Order: sequence, then C-alpha cells, then structure tokens
Amino acid sequence: MTTTPHPYRIGIDLGGTKIEVLLLDPDGRPVLRERVPTPRGQSSTYTDILAETVRQIKHALAHIPDGESTIGIGIPGIIDTRSGRIINANATRLIDQAFQADIARQIGRPVAMENDADCFTLAETREGAGKGHAMVFGIILGTGVGGGLCFHNKIFRGRHGIAGEWGHIAVVPDGRPCFCGNRGCVETLISGTGMAAAYRESFGHELSAKAIVERARQGDANCLTIFHNFLDDFGRCVGGIISLLDPEAIVLGGGLSNIDELYSDGTALARRYAFHPDPQTPILKNQLGDSAGVYGAAWIGI
Ligand SMILES: [Zn+2]
Repeated sequence: MTTTPHPYRIGIDLGGTKIEVLLLDPDGRPVLRERVPTPRGQSSTYTDILAETVRQIKHALAHIPDGESTIGIGIPGIIDTRSGRIINANATRLIDQAFQADIARQIGRPVAMENDADCFTLAETREGAGKGHAMVFGIILGTGVGGGLCFHNKIFRGRHGIAGEWGHIAVVPDGRPCFCGNRGCVETLISGTGMAAAYRESFGHELSAKAIVERARQGDANCLTIFHNFLDDFGRCVGGIISLLDPEAIVLGGGLSNIDELYSDGTALARRYAFHPDPQTPILKNQLGDSAGVYGAAWIGI
C-alpha cells in the first residue's frame, strides 16, 4: 500500500455489450467518459477483450499530464482470491483467465479488479442511495441477479471472493437449471429472464419481463399471477438477506430496479419474511443509475 495520493483515477466497467471508461480528475470530476462495444461474436476471443480493455486504459492515460493515475476495473465475474483467475463469469471468455495480471503486465502497472456488483455497491454506498450507512447490501436485478456487500465504504470480498453472491443460493430443488450448475437459484426466480421463463412455462408463449409488469398493472390475470409470484419470491429472498446480514440499507440496481412495486409491496414482503417482528431495513432505489459501475471501478483503483 502506498500513501502517496494519486491525483487522477481511471475506472473501467467491462460489460457483456460495452466497455465504459471514466477518468476522474484530482477533484473527482469526470474529464473523460466513453463507451465502446465489447468485442463479441463467434470469432472474438479473450485476447480481443484484453486488447480492447488495455486500449481504453491507454486512451485515458493519454489525457493525464504526468500519466499518474490509479486504475480500477469492474468485471462481470468473480476473481478467485487464491488463483487470481476469473470464475463464474457471465462473459464466459473471461473464465479461468488471469485477467488482472494480464492487464497489469501489458500496461506495466498494477490494477485493481472487482466484481461489477461489488463496484455498484461501493459507488452507491459512497455517493448514492446507501450513503451514510455503515453496512450496505447492493442488489443487481437484471438479466441475472448479483449482489455485493460494503462495510464502512469498503468492499467485503470474503474468503474466496464470492461474498454477496446470493443470486446463486439454490432455493428450488427441482427448479430451472442455472448456468452455475445448480438448479432453482435465486437468479432463476427474480431476474428478468426468470420472470419471462415463469410466464412461458405457465402460458406457453413468450413475453418479456417489462411487458409482464405493464400488463399486470393493467389487470391482465395471467401477468398478475406471474408478477405476484415474482414479488413474493423477491420478498422471501431479500427477507433472507435481512435475516442473514441485517444490513443498514439495501440498494437495488439493474434494469428491474425500475419496478416501483419493489419499493412498496416487495419491500413489505421482504420485511414480513425477515426474522424480526418489525424490521425497518430501507430498500432503496439506486441514485447513480448506469454510472454506478464505472464510478465504483474508479474508486477501487490502485
Ligand atoms: Zn446459479
């Protein structure tokens, strides 16, 4: 650990579809923020992702007068604390790669790297909805379900680096298969994909999570059934988090965090399922929106 303050901060948010780069000046103001597509498709490889990430870091470094900066990267996967290699990544080309070490070697300086849900949680804890709370659990509800835990503005990683990965608690023994190898994970229930799958299995045709929620609000009986089950599953799973960790606040992010009912009915259900007669745990909508991931990445920088 160095005590020399680095004036500039570079954050990289590596997603499945885009790589976002942010450069913060010594006063914490954004001076560069850009998005480029993540190399995808049949022919793209790990080397392509590595090269594009390095290119974006060098692009940001070129904007800094003396080139002195911290660098942090958020990734859609877990870095195994023992091997330094990536495990359980949605972006499968990253799996088993020493991504952090490979980048550090190519740019000739160390970089920090954390799971994207952890970066989200850190950003919302420092400057967003969770500000002022000593322990915050961050939840990403999107195509999958992620989570992260912050104590006193620091990411808590756990023994293996998987702390907060509640999306892969297997809760339905004969449930839908999950990419992680388990069945009936939380992610198969309360993600957008999970809601759409529940509808398809019950009614035999496709409907997106967004459409299900909209039609439920208009009184469509089939959609109401699916949406009620979704809110009840959300309540049970989040109620379990409250019982396990008793966080001071929970912050929701991801596409599904825009569903207003999560903050009324969903929150009431979560509190009902928690192991306390009158829990007060606030379940809050994120304040930084799309920006949380890349700001969190900038703040973990070394
Ligand atoms: Zn799973």
